[in-house]
Amino acid sequence: MLKEPFQKAEPIMKQLEAHGYESYLVGGAVRDYLVNRQIGDIDIATNATPQEVQQVFSKTVPVGIEHGTVLVLHNGESFEVTTYRTESDYQDYRHPSEVSFVKDINLDLSRRDFTINAIAMNRHGEILDPFEGKKDLERQLIRTVRSPQERFEEDPLRMLRGVRFISQLNFDMDLDTTDAIKELHHLLNKISVERITDEMMKLFTQPYINAALKVIDDSGMYGSLPIFNENNKLFFELKKIDFNQPLNHPGVMFALFYLLDYEVSLQKWIKTYKVSNQIKRQAIHIVECYNLYKHQGLSDWVLYKSGKQMKDLYQIICLLDSPLPSIEELEKRYLMLPIKSRSDIVISGQDLLQWFDHVKKGKWIGNFLTEIERLIVIGELRNDRHEIESRVREWKVQEKS
Ligand code: ATP
Ligand code: MG
Repeated sequence: MLKEPFQKAEPIMKQLEAHGYESYLVGGAVRDYLVNRQIGDIDIATNATPQEVQQVFSKTVPVGIEHGTVLVLHNGESFEVTTYRTESDYQDYRHPSEVSFVKDINLDLSRRDFTINAIAMNRHGEILDPFEGKKDLERQLIRTVRSPQERFEEDPLRMLRGVRFISQLNFDMDLDTTDAIKELHHLLNKISVERITDEMMKLFTQPYINAALKVIDDSGMYGSLPIFNENNKLFFELKKIDFNQPLNHPGVMFALFYLLDYEVSLQKWIKTYKVSNQIKRQAIHIVECYNLYKHQGLSDWVLYKSGKQMKDLYQIICLLDSPLPSIEELEKRYLMLPIKSRSDIVISGQDLLQWFDHVKKGKWIGNFLTEIERLIVIGELRNDRHEIESRVREWKVQEKS
């Protein structure tokens, strides 16, 4: 019987076996289980073809059938079931040009990137480990399955994945593997930027960023990462930072990259790395708040403006400047603010129009609201209808503004 985290996968494996097929747990979940880390997605490998997998289970989704992957839905959970396969000819450095399904699990394990990711476990908890991945887990070593040169030439992204696993596990990079990275990191230029971005975002949201950056430095890999390869100063500045915790999310990473050197615009980072709109918005907001903080310190206005991203601003300041009071203290101050957003103001643009009924609608309304908002947040005006009205009536409308 399988141990706790894998128990929910057991019915799937049993059912495959009842139909005469093999099934193994593979990849990151087995690795993380063996080093007592919380496991992520459970991946199951089988010698059944994708069509056969679809016949065995009643609820399936063909998520990546050309690569052999079928999603099996069971008890409200989903499991990726992938047919044993080998890959060949990475001509375009993007996807293998040919995926062949095979009948031997050992062949499937041999196409995997690192020994620690090439361990399989059957339903009885027995381990299949042809590349000594368990030994590398004990030695805490990232080592490629077979020749690092060949494996990196096949798919150069593996070099970046290797340092991402260092950031995740705090392992060392095997010497031959490091040497191959020194020699071949330039091949990263051939990889689609989406894949690079994905691994970079994973790297920076893991706990051992310093260790990963050291390998990127020692191997010279920074010379092949977008934008870092055009500006030597950037990686030098990045290396100076002591990352003592994972970044909160990728938005913080791009904000930080930009703040390392204002000469490269945030827009350029976003475009080059093809960042999603959500991450882009988060990064822009963090940068705006940080610039405001640079002018006025951690004022109530800055806390108010950072709002939901206060923790992100806090993280950036801790990384780039001196340590701050605890985040709890800032959160307490935030809770004491008289309003949390503009919609908390007791008056609206409509009220302004009534009070100034001789003036046309225009930009002045927004300007007035911003000023009212600021005065309330910094404690110079109470969020009270009458007080706001009498204060505002003293102001002059600049029609053109
Ligand atoms: P995580 O826990 O971070 O998801 P993971 O090991 O599961 O780590 P994935 O990117 O989800 O990493 O990949 C799942 C498995 O597929 C890996 O463990 C590895 O065996 C294999 N794999 C993924 N990408 C590659 C690649 N580019 N080359 C070879 N094998 C790969
Ligand atoms: Mg995974």
